[in-house]
Amino acid sequence: MKLIKELKYEFNQLEPVIDAATMEIHYTKHLAAYATNFQAAIEKTDLANESIEAILKNIDSVPAEVKQAVINNAGGVHNHNLYFEQFTPGGKALADGKLLSLINATFGSIDELIEQLKKAGATRFGSGWSWLVYDGENLKVMSTANQDSPLMENLVPLLGIDVWEHAYYLNYQNRRPDYLAAIFSIIDWSVVEARFNN
Ligand code: MN
Repeated sequence: MKLIKELKYEFNQLEPVIDAATMEIHYTKHLAAYATNFQAAIEKTDLANESIEAILKNIDSVPAEVKQAVINNAGGVHNHNLYFEQFTPGGKALADGKLLSLINATFGSIDELIEQLKKAGATRFGSGWSWLVYDGENLKVMSTANQDSPLMENLVPLLGIDVWEHAYYLNYQNRRPDYLAAIFSIIDWSVVEARFNN
């Protein structure tokens, strides 16, 4: 099973928002470690033929002795694939359509949605993620701790911002709000829209 999605851009192409060294370490070391540890965790279970999405959606059926390792590492793989896939140099705006209409109806505007995502990321204590999620009917902004996936709560993650220090520390040090202020300039909203349409 190929766990890690390929990048559509070079490590330095998201600069200055995300520096090349952070990108390279994050993708080749952190994400790779989650993939390795996920495979080790499920090795002796019958989960090997299931998709990561299916495993996370049915997390309560994962054997107790590997459940936390699966939450951490299946979540780590899935969250990071979403993260790296949703960026493009310079960003790409959200086209008119069903998602934009629902964002406007729910949050008032895309700028207000972004403000809520920044706040959710800034107020997540310790390590975790800020999310735009969809429950099949409504959109919601939330955050999760560690590598917990919204899929475990039956929510579809549409956009996820990693607020672990490893995602920003080389460039922003303790200034997580500065990282959050910058990151929305490189979002490819067509990717977010495609997740919504699926
Ligand atoms: Mn990360």
